[in-house]
Amino acid sequence: MSDFPTMLSVAAARTHVVDFCAQRKPAREVVPLYAAVGRILCDDVIAAADLPPFANSAMDGFALHGVALPAADERRFRIIGTRLAGNAGGLSPGVGECVRITTGAPMPAGADTVVIREHVVEEAGSIIVRAGERRGAHVRPAGEDFRAGECVMRRGQRIRATRIGALAAMGLAQVAVFARPRVGILTTGDELVLPGAPCGPAQIHNSNGFSIAAMLDADGCVPAVGSGAGANLPFRHLPDDRALIRSALLAAAAEFDVIITSGGVSAGEADHLPGLIAELGRIHFWKVRMRPGMPILFGEIGKAMVFCLPGNPVSTIATFLCLVRPALATLQAAEEIDPPQRHARLTTAIDKRHDRTEFLRAACTAGEDGTLWVTPMQGQGSAMLRGMIDANALIVVAEDCRRIEAGEPVQILLLPGVS
Ligand code: AMP
Ligand code: MG
Repeated sequence: MSDFPTMLSVAAARTHVVDFCAQRKPAREVVPLYAAVGRILCDDVIAAADLPPFANSAMDGFALHGVALPAADERRFRIIGTRLAGNAGGLSPGVGECVRITTGAPMPAGADTVVIREHVVEEAGSIIVRAGERRGAHVRPAGEDFRAGECVMRRGQRIRATRIGALAAMGLAQVAVFARPRVGILTTGDELVLPGAPCGPAQIHNSNGFSIAAMLDADGCVPAVGSGAGANLPFRHLPDDRALIRSALLAAAAEFDVIITSGGVSAGEADHLPGLIAELGRIHFWKVRMRPGMPILFGEIGKAMVFCLPGNPVSTIATFLCLVRPALATLQAAEEIDPPQRHARLTTAIDKRHDRTEFLRAACTAGEDGTLWVTPMQGQGSAMLRGMIDANALIVVAEDCRRIEAGEPVQILLLPGVS
C-alpha cells in the first residue's frame, strides 16, 4: 500500500484530480428549464430573434415624433389613443400628435421618442411638452439586449439563478445540460450521532454529512440518496467497523460515480479508509500539503472515484472546496472549475510556521474606496465551526510564506453561496 504519491502540493493534487476527471465525458440530458438551475449548459445558446423583439417604451409616458419636440417654450400634442404593454398595431401618431404608452408597449409607427408622464401637463385631450426633452429618449430599440444570431450563453457555462432569465427570455422551455455525477456520501466514526438523537458520553453530532451534502447542492450537484442512507438523510453513516465500511464502499462503488467519505483517513487505529481503498481499488494519492485537510485521499474503486475527506469539520470543507469541487465541475464539463479567487488586503498580519498551504477562515468586506479587506476569524482549529458562521472566504497562505503584514494583498477563495 505504498505505490502512490503522497504529500502532494495543493496544485499538483488538483491537477491530478482534474486530469483524471477530464477523461470521463459526461452524457447530455434535456431538462425543463427550471430544473436546469445550477447545471452546465451543453450547447451554445444562440438568439433566434432580437431581444427585445420590437422597439418599446422604457417608461410610462407619451410616444411622439422627436422632430416635433419644442426647442424653446412648449408645444401641445394631441393624444390619439393609448397603447398598453401587450397591445400591438393600429396607432400611428402624426407630427404634433402622441400616444399614451406604458412601459414595455411597442412604439407606435412613426414615434421615436417617449416623454415621461411626470414631465408633461395633460389638458383637454392633449399634453403640453416643455423644451428640454431629448429626441429618442426612453425607447428600447429592438435587439438592444441581444441581436438575432448572437451567442446568449456558452457551452460549459453554469445556469445560475441570475442567468436563467436570459434563457427563458429566449423562449427556451427546456435545455440540454451535462449529466451530473451521482455522488454518494459516507460518513464514518464511532463517536458520531445523528442530529436529533442525544449524544452519549464521548459522542458528538455528525456535522460533516450535512456540510458535504449542502456543498454539493451549492454546486448544483445533488447527493444521491443511495441504499443505506437514513430517512431524509443525504448520506449514510457507518461506525469505525472495517467490514461494514468495506461492504458500504463496494455497494457505493456499484451505485455512484463519485463517493465522498468523511473521517477515518488518518493513521489512527480506527482509520480504515486508506487500507480499504488500496484493497478494493487503487489509491491515486494520499495526503496533500495543506492545512487543514492534510490526510485527504483520492482513489478509485471499480468505476467510482473516491474522495476520502478528513473528519475534522473544517478540513472536510477545505478539501471539498479545493479538490472535490473542481472534480465535480470537470465531470460536468464546466468552464469554471475552481472556487472564485480574488485578492484582498489583510487587516491584520498573519504568521505561519509550517510548510503547507494554509487555508484560514476569513471575513472579506469591501471598503468605501473599493478595496477588498479580509480578516482572519478567531479560532482557526480544524474542528472549530464557529469561524464558518461569519466567514465568507478562505485566505490562502502559500507553502513558503511565513508572514504577511497587515495591508498586504493575499489570495482568497470565496465560499459557496457567497460569490
Ligand atoms: P477522523 O478523521 O476520523 O480522525 O476524525 C477527526 C476528527 O473529526 C475527530 O475529532 C472526529 O470526531 C471528527 N469528525 C469526524 N467525522 C465527523 C463528522 N461527520 N462530523 C463531525 N465531526 C467529525
Ligand atoms: Mg474517525
